[in-house]
Amino acid sequence: MSSAVPLLTARHVAVIGAGAAGLVAARELRREGHGVVVFERGEQVGGTWVYTPEVESDPLGWDPSRSIVHSSLYDSLRTNLPRECMGFRDYRFGKRRDSRRFPGHREVLMYLQDFALDFEILELVRFETEVVFAGLGEGGKWRVTSKSPHSDRDSVDEIYDAVIVCNGHYVQPRLPHIPGINAWPGKQMHSHNYRTPEPFQDQVVVLIGSSASAVDISRDVATVAKEVHIAARSVEEDKLGQMPGHENMWLHSMIDSVHEDGTVVFQDGIAVRVDFIIHCTGYKYDFPFLETNGEVTVDDNRVGPLYKHVFPPGLAPWLSFVGLPWKVVPFPMFELQSKWIARILSNRIALPSKEEMAEDIEAFYSSLEASGTPKRYTHNMGILQVLDVCLGLCHITVGLQ
Ligand code: FAD
Repeated sequence: MSSAVPLLTARHVAVIGAGAAGLVAARELRREGHGVVVFERGEQVGGTWVYTPEVESDPLGWDPSRSIVHSSLYDSLRTNLPRECMGFRDYRFGKRRDSRRFPGHREVLMYLQDFALDFEILELVRFETEVVFAGLGEGGKWRVTSKSPHSDRDSVDEIYDAVIVCNGHYVQPRLPHIPGINAWPGKQMHSHNYRTPEPFQDQVVVLIGSSASAVDISRDVATVAKEVHIAARSVEEDKLGQMPGHENMWLHSMIDSVHEDGTVVFQDGIAVRVDFIIHCTGYKYDFPFLETNGEVTVDDNRVGPLYKHVFPPGLAPWLSFVGLPWKVVPFPMFELQSKWIARILSNRIALPSKEEMAEDIEAFYSSLEASGTPKRYTHNMGILQVLDVCLGLCHITVGLQ
């Protein structure tokens, strides 16, 4: 019995961002026969992996009028995944320009540049072109407005069948509220603006957080600082105190308060006179260009409602997001999400009905609530990336072979 081949339809698709997600989305869309334009506000592909020593004028990222530096990479950064997990599924992270299993960030950028060249993606990218608006236009089409210093027009309006958002989510700092911080006289920065340890020479530094960046940056800073104190949530009591193997590093519970005389008091009762606080406290999702008439909102870092973190039921499949989940193996996930989107747009495979997607999302949110998972962890996959994304995508992968 022969199965019927669906009639495939080519769409005109705008991809916002030429980082790893946008590049693989462009490849999958073109493979599926769609027309693609990739908008990239930077001068080159690679997104996060384009390291720059430049930092923002406001080291905490409060000032909304500051000019944005996209990348959060620090000079010493090596991947936190082994090279075997860093590549797309059919384009291996093979060339060993850096012999280490966890290579430095420059090798990842070169990998993405090679990918863009080998799959001829560069010709699809409009560099130094920022999307300033993407919203529903007439007849269910999407209006995309972009600005470029190379255009003789102020802005350019275009119409697309679909928009895929790949703008990255390590750009807008999240900052904790610390009692007394407004009167505290020391210096502060968010890890987004950390590059090298030199500015911390002989300083007493408190670093807030326990993520991969917090671990890396604390070790980096400890090479030059007088003292490094790490404030972390949920530390086991027997781990508090001086860190084994480090003469100048201490682990504390979270900060309780800070004071006018420069003191930082931790919840474990210890008080330290501190020069600098580095906030390794994560980032906020931000889509300043996106207008969905309330169909998609960001509420306490939950972007939603989204079916499988990709499609808003009310606007699917014409709006989608690649790369929102975190604590994942990013590149293969971007690739699978992109294949799924490309094939749904062409009608090769179908999404469930709007109602079914909404029910699925509700069930997911209820399960998070039942397990006591805070809303801001909605897109944190952790162990779920195996159970939910991989297995949950099983029915999808049937259409992806
Ligand atoms: P990005 O790489 O951020 O790209 C988004 C692109 O969109 C950028 O080029 C930006 O200029 C563009 N853009 C944004 N807004 C607009 C607009 N309005 N108009 C036009 N263009 C726009 N992942 C790993 O796999 N391994 C690691 O070891 C690892 N380490 C990390 C360490 C740090 C410090 C950080 C911050 C992230 C790390 N990641 C790591 C995750 C990393 O973010 C992903 O691997 C991946 O690079 C994200 O790709 P992306 O395309 O989603 O976003």
